[in-house]
Amino acid sequence: MSHTDAVSSVRLDHTPTIPLHEACGIVMAACVAAQPSAVLLRNALSHVAADDVLSSVVVPPFNNSGMDGFAVVAEDCASSSTRLKVVASIMAGEAASTELQSGQAARIMTGAPIPPGATAVCPVERTELDGDTVVLEGVVQPGDYVRLAGDDISPGDVVVRSGSSLGPVQIALLESVGCSEVLTYPPPRVGVLTTGDELMGAGEAGIRDSNRSMLLAALAREQFPAVDLGIVGDDADEIIRRLGEATERCDAVITTGGVSVGDRDVVRLTIDRLPTVTSQWMRVAIKPAKPFLFALLDAAPRTVPLFGLPGNPVSALVSFELFARPALRRMAGRRFLWRPLTAGIATEDFRRPLDGKTHFVTAVARMSKDQTVEIRPCGRQGSHRLSSLGDANALAVLPDGSGVPTGGRVSVFLLDADALFTGDPLEPMGFDVPISDLIPGCE
Ligand code: AMP
Ligand code: MG
Repeated sequence: MSHTDAVSSVRLDHTPTIPLHEACGIVMAACVAAQPSAVLLRNALSHVAADDVLSSVVVPPFNNSGMDGFAVVAEDCASSSTRLKVVASIMAGEAASTELQSGQAARIMTGAPIPPGATAVCPVERTELDGDTVVLEGVVQPGDYVRLAGDDISPGDVVVRSGSSLGPVQIALLESVGCSEVLTYPPPRVGVLTTGDELMGAGEAGIRDSNRSMLLAALAREQFPAVDLGIVGDDADEIIRRLGEATERCDAVITTGGVSVGDRDVVRLTIDRLPTVTSQWMRVAIKPAKPFLFALLDAAPRTVPLFGLPGNPVSALVSFELFARPALRRMAGRRFLWRPLTAGIATEDFRRPLDGKTHFVTAVARMSKDQTVEIRPCGRQGSHRLSSLGDANALAVLPDGSGVPTGGRVSVFLLDADALFTGDPLEPMGFDVPISDLIPGCE
């Protein structure tokens, strides 16, 4: 099909505008987690556990010292000063075979096994060596600085719950109980295809394809395997071919461009020619990113969600954040789908006209010293102005109305929660003390 054919298939469109929550509902209902599968622990970062993982072992595996010092029989050390004979030295990783007798001490390092007969450890700071003896200051109680076997984890304990996202701590917990494989929901493999005759190839003049780089990077941040499907012109046959190929390689596909109401909005105009289980072009009552196409491509026995985002970069990002990202996270089995929504005080006016839409405005949100979130618009707004997102760490959500005046309460989706706290580098996290007081040596 040529460009002209695509144009000739334009129908008069009376698609009603739908509210954001309705559009989200359509997308979310269609995007569900795949069957769980086993994955090596080293590849499991950001996967979601599909089952409770129970420990079959004891952690720590043996009684060991919590301090560098001397293992002793605590009953020997009931007075303020005790002299004991040093009979052994036990390093971490060594075995402790000799049984400690009353009147004896063993030099011991943190993590080294408590020798049989010893009941406590006296920290090195409270001791003084004197030839082959050691003098201990202060009373030592039974159990002092001894980490008992199973102190942390016992057999049968749930170390990771079903539904937990596996971050560094969960991965360490699984490692600590000797789990080298874990059952998880596989994260979706997501293809990114950008469309538009105006997009330049390498070395050509034209509009640079920033959307593809942005979306591939956004997927990488989510730990979703991404497939770069390249650029395609506004050519219906080629779009159909490329999307057909994509369904074989991908669990979901994101396109940008070609979903508005223009004559060359070919993604929208050709979707009917693809095998789909459902397809819905929407006008969503939001600004930017009003047009959005969602389809379930038929790749029997699988279905592959297609997120057709608008081409303007800010629209593409907003549409990704509102529709594709939460849906993909749902496919990955994650529990928290949307960016954290928080509210704060507007430190500048957020003006907007009444137009029946929810507006998303690029914004900077910062935690002030008194722990108030302060929010201001940032950059010149406009769906084509990617630069407005450059310094932004939030998207302000402005319901229909005239906006929020300075001092009013404004809601934001936090795109980068870390940046909430990067105010004055000498006063991190709004603490009213310089960082050099918190972390000595740090200016
Ligand atoms: P469209 O949604 O196809 O009507 O595209 C609207 C505008 O978005 C285009 O005129 C381009 O200026 C811009 N645009 C489309 N695709 C991209 C892209 N991949 N990267 C950067 N800008 C784009
Ligand atoms: Mg276009």
